[in-house]
Amino acid sequence: MATVAPRPFPRRHLLGIEGLSAREITVLLDKSEKYVDRNRRVNKKQSLLRGRTQINLFFESSTRTRTSFELAGKRLGADVINMSAEASSVRKGETLIDTAMTLNAMRPDVLVVRHPHSGAVNLLAQKVDCAVVNAGDGSHEHPTQALLDALTIRRRRGRLGGLIVAICGDVLHSRVARSNIQLLVAMGARVRVVAPPTLVSPLFERMGADVHHDMASGLRDADIVMMLRLQTERMQGAFVPSVREYFHFYGLDYQKLAAAKPDALIMHPGPMNRGVEIDTDVADDIDRSVIREQVEMGVAVRMACLDILTDHLSNAAPADAGAAE
Ligand code: ASP
Repeated sequence: MATVAPRPFPRRHLLGIEGLSAREITVLLDKSEKYVDRNRRVNKKQSLLRGRTQINLFFESSTRTRTSFELAGKRLGADVINMSAEASSVRKGETLIDTAMTLNAMRPDVLVVRHPHSGAVNLLAQKVDCAVVNAGDGSHEHPTQALLDALTIRRRRGRLGGLIVAICGDVLHSRVARSNIQLLVAMGARVRVVAPPTLVSPLFERMGADVHHDMASGLRDADIVMMLRLQTERMQGAFVPSVREYFHFYGLDYQKLAAAKPDALIMHPGPMNRGVEIDTDVADDIDRSVIREQVEMGVAVRMACLDILTDHLSNAAPADAGAAE
């Protein structure tokens, strides 16, 4: 009797990087590589997800992530519906779970969800029958951002293991930082977080990162310098004395960058606040900045995630839908 090969990514949802093995991360990155090549062709459209429905449910504003998921689904041939909280019944007092159950009744194959509260996407995933992708939940996780960052680094440096990655700025409120630290540590990179004492938490050391409070030591010999925005929308009260002072101590300019390796790459998940966390010349430096490349990798990574999370649907009976979380 023919045996069925185990699925290389045996999960129903992508809710975070936490708990993923290095092998599972590698499966997602390898699949993404294939889509980078496809996306550079003139005809990008495929039929892999033809007949499948993807709903992008965004309870928080987004430009690149929502567009990227929409493009990813459309390039794979899915029917993609975009819903934002402003236009939904959430405005009329409906709970997250009721909204999820309503959408679930329409039998989508994938729900891509962004929500301002940490843990909300996990909760929603327990209530629906389809695959759920976390497109960012509060300050908790943003798994596809970490995957696209890893893909960008791996393509430029050929590896992740052994690299020194400095993640700088408002790590406290950043889901990008949390997902990146977990991914990079799992893949054997050395991660430093660089932030004022008011913008870090002991959690980062427990995750395996070294904490630095000044850019000179944090950036020393770094291969990668990843800058983060001050997430003022998640701040209650003042975490930094002034933007001017923040830029003086923590904004990335050529002077601070000089501590890193001479060929260190500059990254930023966007949206960027020029003159706050990053100097405009550094951000636009075509030899060092890979910020635009990160956006390109984002579409490929999201195509890979949609592909992998739905690949069992074509052949398996509905009972298979209950496979490992
Ligand atoms: N775009 C990223 C996020 O959604 C980073 C940011 O907003 O600063 O978390």
